Amino acid sequence: MKSKQSDLFEHFFGGEKSLPKSEERPLVLSYSQISTYQQCPLRYKFQYIERRPSKPSPHLDFGNTIHNTLKDFHQNFDLRKTSPLRSNPTPKGTDAPDEYWETSNGASLEDLLDLYEKNWVSEGYENREQEEEFRREGERMLKNYYQTAIKNPNLPLYLEESFKFRIGDCEIWGKIDRIDRLPDGEWEIIDYKAGKRKIEQVGLEADLNPLEIDENFQLSLYYLGCKEKFKKVPGKVSLYYLKYNQKISAARRPEQLRDVERIVGQVASQIREKKFEAKKGPLCPWCGHKEICPAFKESLL
Ligand code: SF4
Repeated sequence: MKSKQSDLFEHFFGGEKSLPKSEERPLVLSYSQISTYQQCPLRYKFQYIERRPSKPSPHLDFGNTIHNTLKDFHQNFDLRKTSPLRSNPTPKGTDAPDEYWETSNGASLEDLLDLYEKNWVSEGYENREQEEEFRREGERMLKNYYQTAIKNPNLPLYLEESFKFRIGDCEIWGKIDRIDRLPDGEWEIIDYKAGKRKIEQVGLEADLNPLEIDENFQLSLYYLGCKEKFKKVPGKVSLYYLKYNQKISAARRPEQLRDVERIVGQVASQIREKKFEAKKGPLCPWCGHKEICPAFKESLL
């Protein structure tokens, strides 16, 4: 008999037998699933249909550590009480969850670095030297982040907030790193980018490319998720590049949101038709399934 946990996993991540026909129940997709499929359908199959374990990745573990650290930091501390620019905390607002106000404290850089240490995960790194290199880079990023944040402390309304909504016969789900309430009352969706890319990792979107934010599919999905969940239209969406300590923001246009429907529809119908061909590309050397991929092996011959 299947466990409740395995039922839930199947519901969210699918499985060969459980790939739903559109008339049965929605196909559940996240941004990661959609982008994995777009990058390589075979990789999607390995990862989400067959659920094969992939090789641990230092980039993935590093990203998780940074995300968890920032979540814990903003959940437990109120930077507005730390800021040299605002000696008085903002009075209780209407949008902040009650728990936020009960647990918020002013925060020091040491608090942030302590959380970084607590959240550090050693798995995934090739050796001690590589782990230390990542650790130092994370510390540098968080120090810069802290210095910027105390000068402009906004109220994070939600952290790692999950959402789900329907597009056609698909259920889209995801988690938004952070939603801020700005001083003018507008909401801002923020996605942290902790990437520590190697120069030779060509094919990834260019770092700090202003066009990227404009076209960013992930942020359009999050925009729609926020709108559906909270019935609140975000004023802007932002990518926070922690490596450069820079945030790039943009608004969403109706045509970008229509693109989301088109892309989701295309990917979903190809998944339902079980089109899982290999799509070799510049990211193959970093694919966690390359060792079992016939296309990759062939390219080495
Ligand atoms: S190695 Fe390349 S072709 Fe093979 S599954 Fe991974 S991304 Fe696809």
